[in-house]
Order: sequence, then C-alpha cells, then structure tokens
Amino acid sequence: MSLALWLTGAASAAVLGASARWNWWRPRAEGLPILMYHKIGTPPPDSRLKKLWVSTDMFRRQMEWLKTHRWEPVTLRQVAEKQDRGDPLSPRAVVISFDDGYLNNYQNAFPVLRDYGYPAVVFLVVQAVGWENFWHDPATESRLPMMSWKNAEEMQSAGVEFGSHTMTHPRLTGIESKQVVEELGKSRRIITEFLGREPVTFAYPYGNGQDDEKVRRLVRDAGYRWACSVHQGKSVPTEEPYCLHRIFVRGDDSLFDFHLNMTRGRARL
Ligand SMILES: [Zn+2]
Repeated sequence: MSLALWLTGAASAAVLGASARWNWWRPRAEGLPILMYHKIGTPPPDSRLKKLWVSTDMFRRQMEWLKTHRWEPVTLRQVAEKQDRGDPLSPRAVVISFDDGYLNNYQNAFPVLRDYGYPAVVFLVVQAVGWENFWHDPATESRLPMMSWKNAEEMQSAGVEFGSHTMTHPRLTGIESKQVVEELGKSRRIITEFLGREPVTFAYPYGNGQDDEKVRRLVRDAGYRWACSVHQGKSVPTEEPYCLHRIFVRGDDSLFDFHLNMTRGRARL
C-alpha cells in the first residue's frame, strides 16, 4: 500500500471512530435540556459508580460554558408557572437537576451555583435526608452522607427547587400499587412539611416506572406536575409531562461532550 493511500485510510478510520464516539453529525435538537447529575466531587477509590461522579472543577467549567453560551437556567416549577400563564419558554432555558440529594450537592455544587446565580432542582430520597444512601449495595458504592433539611432550606432560599425521588428509592414496578401511592404521597407530604412548599416534580428511581402507564398515572394522581425519566435527550414538557427526558452528565464527559449534549441532546451513540 502506498503511503498516501495508507494515510487516507488512517484518516477515515479516525473520522469513523470520532463519529461513533461523538454525535457531532447529529442535527441540533429542539426542546428543553434537563441536565441530570448525581454526585459532585471526587469518588471514593472503591466506587464502582464513578461515571455518576462529576468533579467540582468540571461542574464549574460546565456552568461557565452555560454562561458563555448564554443559557438561562430555570426550575421546573418556573416552567409550570410559565405554562400556566401562557408564556413561552425561552429557547435558551435549561434545567440543572440532581438525583438523590447527596451532601456533596450542598458542599460542592451549591457554592458554584451560587457564584453563577443559577437555580437548580434536587430530587430527595426523603427517608435518607440527613442520613446516608441506604438503598445502595455497599459493594458498588460506599456509604455517603446525604444533605440535611437545614441544607435543603438554605438551598431553597437561594432558588433551588426540591422534588421527590420517593421515600426509599425502590423500583416502582416491583412493588404493590398501594406502596407506590405511599412512596409518592408520603414523600410529598414530608417535603411540604419541612420546606413549606408542595413539590411539583418527581423523578423515578433508576428510571423504573417511567414507561409504565399505571405508575405514571399514580404520579399524576399524587399531585405532581412533572416526572423526570432517565431517557436521554431534550424534553418537550407539555408533550410528555410524566416522562421528561434528561441529559445524563457523565463523570468522564469532556466539555466537548457537554457541548454536544446541550446542542444535540446526546454526546454518544
Ligand atoms: Zn436515584
């Protein structure tokens, strides 16, 4: 093979590799991006769930990216209020969401959010508040402290919305309807009691139940306005209020992945 031919081959192999890795060829997607984070900071060395950890430094760079590109972070409560008033949602609106309610969200993410003046949405596992991530198998993720009601109150005063992520983080399709109703209703009542505001948003633990008509109906009947899934992509809230798609921000994402996520709705195949 001639050198020129070999070089051409190598170049197209590289391009093919890049296109499988990154969705730069995908057209820009319309809709509301809802970023999904879990833990902010440095994972414990034995963590088997490292992709769920975004470093504080990378989180700050991502918030800086949003600012540079003039995105406008909003809460899902604000999206509901806009819809009720018949106001259009800004095409630059973005939601920054966190699942579970780890103390590291308060310690590491909140100071960054405050620096930028950005609101966010945190989904609490209500029985874990002020305690630990009891639902995790300690073989995959060691015990981590969760934020307290006091932390949550402080965040709420700075514009953070709190939603429910159930009482105990169960797989909702694996338990009786009566228990599902309890997980949805009790968590909602306790959040209302401690934070003085009825939560309007719910997030399915593990995304389980997000495609189940019966579970979705129970979420609606419990009084929630929106429910967040783990389906990847941007969302049109009015069309899929009980299965909002989200953008999973992985711990090993580069800023280029973040850019693709924000513009295309996904960074990878
Ligand atoms: Zn969760």
